[in-house]
Amino acid sequence: MRDFDEAALTVEESLSELRRSLAGPVLGPADTGYDAARICFNAMVDRRPAVIARCIGPGDVATAFDFARVHDLQVAVRGGGHNPAGHCVLDGGLVIDLSLLRGVQVDGDARIARAEGGTTWVDFDQATQAHSLVTPGGVVGSTGVCGLTLGGGIGHLTAQHGLTCDNLIAAELVIPNGRIVHANTDEHAELLWGLRGAGGNFGVATRLELRLHPLDSVVGGTLVFGGRGVRDALCRFRDVVASSPRDLSCQAVISVDDALAPSVIIAPCYTGAAADPDALRVLRSGPGLRDDRVRAHSFLEQQRVFDAAYGHNRHYWKGHFARELADELVEELCEGILALGRPPGEILIESLHGAPKHADAPDGAIGFRDAAFNITVMASWQDGALDERYVAWARATAAAIQPWSVSAGGYINYMQADEPVERVRAAFGGTVFERLQELKRRYDPTNVLHRNQNIPPASPVGTREVPAAEENGR
Ligand SMILES: Cc1cc2nc3c(=O)[nH]c(=O)nc-3n(C[C@H](O)[C@H](O)[C@H](O)COP(=O)(O)OP(=O)(O)OC[C@H]3O[C@@H](n4cnc5c(N)ncnc54)[C@H](O)[C@@H]3O)c2cc1C
Repeated sequence: MRDFDEAALTVEESLSELRRSLAGPVLGPADTGYDAARICFNAMVDRRPAVIARCIGPGDVATAFDFARVHDLQVAVRGGGHNPAGHCVLDGGLVIDLSLLRGVQVDGDARIARAEGGTTWVDFDQATQAHSLVTPGGVVGSTGVCGLTLGGGIGHLTAQHGLTCDNLIAAELVIPNGRIVHANTDEHAELLWGLRGAGGNFGVATRLELRLHPLDSVVGGTLVFGGRGVRDALCRFRDVVASSPRDLSCQAVISVDDALAPSVIIAPCYTGAAADPDALRVLRSGPGLRDDRVRAHSFLEQQRVFDAAYGHNRHYWKGHFARELADELVEELCEGILALGRPPGEILIESLHGAPKHADAPDGAIGFRDAAFNITVMASWQDGALDERYVAWARATAAAIQPWSVSAGGYINYMQADEPVERVRAAFGGTVFERLQELKRRYDPTNVLHRNQNIPPASPVGTREVPAAEENGR
């Protein structure tokens, strides 16, 4: 453990000491680049950390934990900066920023990729596709590989290869006492189990090892349906995925255009051998097809289908894992999108058929494997004066989905910071949550890493007092 001068009066005075100790750059409020480094996906989150430690290796992460401990600073961890709750940035504390740690090493023969802690999906896909290999990841390139994997991971290849965390085979982690821990099936196996779904609760991942699968091209893209075709397209999407083999992943996005007419984007990703797959023919059929961009293309092109800029809009997301997409629920979703009144804003439906259900899915903490769909209401707007209205819309629309929810919990990767700890517990189920609390007690007994979808440690061994409102990371 590095000795920092506890006698120094302020964090500002100690920044030069941290600068000397850290191999990567250190940013304080007066430094160029500080404002860019504190932006995150959600423009509702505008926070000013005391210090941003841009770590370039596990040693830096351990040093940053030491500095935070000595100066009694709260800690946030930044990977890709995408979590809609804004947990990667905080007022007055220390950010362990991994955005310079973006190396990806591919072992093509062993079909394994090793991704550093701040790697984004665009980094990862480019490196692995150079070997015609993939792992199922997120659909937006700037999302962090570690943040997404640790919370689950749903994307264009979920039916084929499972959740991203199902493909996690090992991790290098710096835990809050500064120790470096390697988790795999032989060492710290219980920790590996927890890392498959329970987020950044146990330590800072400086490297994740993910299994790869051969893939060059896919048949994918988007089909857009409008008018009265919207309900019909949603029901066809539901029926196709229910009977679909593992070679088709599919998502649907319901939105409303400037003329307040609803539309739905169906986004298939087919990797089978058929030249004219039945499932795609069925998805295309039916009324109201306005735009057909489904074609054979590279996996890298598929990964750009939903790619979007970030950091400019205010966001509030809320959703449920649903056991089915009943006709009545389709009706609720169509009414919900009309209630939005004006774009942007959408309802995302991710199908969880195929590989996540497979009997050989690896052991992990993930709590939603049995759900049929992940349905998320995504409000997005720019004017701060409209916060109340859009948050209320997202909450009301999500409440209408709740009767079909598999549990009262949601997807921790999409959860806002105002969700109570009970909802995090419900996301895993009581028994798994208690097992995770025990794991938390072993690796982070004082809940240093609480700015996340938090799992409080099992027993309060020297636990820092966590006010109720903070329990989910605020
Ligand atoms: C535009 C957009 C698209 C998305 N698409 C998908 C998608 O297709 N599929 C899907 O499943 N999810 C998706 N997500 C959700 C995303 O998976 C989560 O928000 C995830 O937490 C983002 O990780 P990040 O590193 O980018 O975010 P950050 O905000 O940087 O990190 C979020 C939290 O993850 C933890 N964390 C991040 N990196 C590390 C690390 N190296 N070690 C330990 N903990 C870490 C920390 O607790 C941190 O606070 C999307 C989000 C957005 C905004």
